[in-house]
Amino acid sequence: MMRKFACMLALVAYVGVPAVCMAQFNLKTLKSATKAVQAVTLTDAQMAEYVKEYIDWMDKHNPVCDESSPYTKRLETLTSSLDQVEGIKLNFKVYHVTDINAFACADGSIRVFSSLMDIMSDEELLGIIGHEIGHIAHKDSKNAFRTSLLTSALKDGISSQGGKAAALTDSQIGTLGEALVNSTYSQKQEKGADDYGYDFLKSKGKNPWAMALSFQKLKQIQEEAGAKKNNKLNQLFSTHPDLDVRIQRMTERAEKECIAKP
Ligand SMILES: [Zn+2]
Repeated sequence: MMRKFACMLALVAYVGVPAVCMAQFNLKTLKSATKAVQAVTLTDAQMAEYVKEYIDWMDKHNPVCDESSPYTKRLETLTSSLDQVEGIKLNFKVYHVTDINAFACADGSIRVFSSLMDIMSDEELLGIIGHEIGHIAHKDSKNAFRTSLLTSALKDGISSQGGKAAALTDSQIGTLGEALVNSTYSQKQEKGADDYGYDFLKSKGKNPWAMALSFQKLKQIQEEAGAKKNNKLNQLFSTHPDLDVRIQRMTERAEKECIAKP
């Protein structure tokens, strides 16, 4: 069952764009995705190599919007002042896919899906990007990747490779992708990222109500998908029961700070 890929805000096939496909995560059947973490030493340098290998694979196997795309231009405008967080250089790309989603990788790569951009206003999109940057700043992305790596692709250990990070095979990337999709952030981590997104919006002079409003939109899509009785979608969304709580938290913050709702 799909859950979150380094923080999935939501995941749904966006109807109405039939020419566009779902994002590729190279998911393969893995019977025991949650094996015990081996006592493997993984240096930061090795981690960085594996993160790069993974995001390179994702960029190669998903339809990245080119520089002339209106999606790319919009995202560039929105993120033009965002260079780094906690010393980690940020980079942004759009995947032209039907899933409504965005994710962050530990190396500062943030990928925003075109179908998410289709439904969100600029401020809402910036709030979601702020949330993703929060996961990078709080090292959630790094920790999730490390755990996924050690429980999937590297479950047999890397010591035999003499301490040097070995290139991942397609099969290993497949199991890593699955582990990442199945990995979840704790409620505490999600709250932390939501608060980061809220403060991020304020620091940019934007209305932080955009956090609650963007979650509200995702909830609406969730409900519409449920109403269509599409089992697969229901299954995906049944894993996001925390959306109500998150809407409430972000609403309460904005109300407490007497910020006018747009
Ligand atoms: Zn998140």
